[in-house]
Amino acid sequence: MARTVCSKHGERVRLDGIPTGPPGGITKEKARKRFEALGAELFDLQDALWGAKVNSVMVVLQGRDSAGKDGAIKHVAGCLNPRGVSVVSFGVPTDEERAHDFLWRVHRHAPRLGEFAIFNRSHYEDVLVVRVHGLVPRRLWKERYGHIADFEELLAEHGTIVLKYFLHINKKEQKKRLLERESDPKAAWKLNANDWKEREHWDDYTEAYEDAISKTAAPHAPWTVVPADAKWYRNLVIAESIVEALRARRADWKKTLDETARKRRAELAALRSEARSAGLARAAERSSSRSTPRRR
Ligand code: ATP
Repeated sequence: MARTVCSKHGERVRLDGIPTGPPGGITKEKARKRFEALGAELFDLQDALWGAKVNSVMVVLQGRDSAGKDGAIKHVAGCLNPRGVSVVSFGVPTDEERAHDFLWRVHRHAPRLGEFAIFNRSHYEDVLVVRVHGLVPRRLWKERYGHIADFEELLAEHGTIVLKYFLHINKKEQKKRLLERESDPKAAWKLNANDWKEREHWDDYTEAYEDAISKTAAPHAPWTVVPADAKWYRNLVIAESIVEALRARRADWKKTLDETARKRRAELAALRSEARSAGLARAAERSSSRSTPRRR
């Protein structure tokens, strides 16, 4: 699988050197079959995650406009049981959100043990769009990398599996997608003139993404650069990466689930034996009252 995983703090990443398309040798048909198998495995893993309640999963999806965050959510979240998933989109902060620190609105949506939270954009916007457009002084956004790293470490200590994805498309592919939106009557509602303006800042965003990835990559909160020009390949890479991260915990969850099952079986056996004893006692009482002669 062609994906670049960054899990070392400070390691530089050069996005221009990372392919945005699928590698040779993998076809759409092969990818479809593999995705189906991964989807089934993901569903099972989620069940164990939900039952064991020792971990949670936070999936962060970042990417330029039209990189496919929505499509990735539709396909990957589509493999999950909705009971245990929340999907949250982070847009321009509201007045209420602005009145708090930048992590406030994100922390409120961190997943509970047993659950998934999928973020469409995230706290990273505060070192991306905010940096590119100078929405706060440089001194402030520079401090944020450290705050983000500490925040994600805190979540990880609480059992959250933090997985961050940069959906990597090339500039031509973005243009094609924006033009397609314009000509497709079903997708035209997604048009946003601002996407064309943001495109002019392509290189600034590249730099901002490279810094964000390098300054917040950690073994407990890795970044994966996902070649995202082909939607089917993008979905496959994300599904595979999530399944791998969860698979590594399966043995732990199984221990917890087996222990819970053992306790519940013992409780059930105790309940049945109590019921049996109570039944025997009642039967003995009935038979002794029948055999005792009544006094006249
Ligand atoms: P698509 O990628 O499919 O075009 P979208 O993610 O751009 O969809 P929108 O709701 O149109 O969805 O855009 C959200 C906007 O909110 C983005 O332009 C993003 O940069 C902006 N945004 C998110 N967080 C912040 C923030 N903290 N400060 C300022 N702007 C933000």
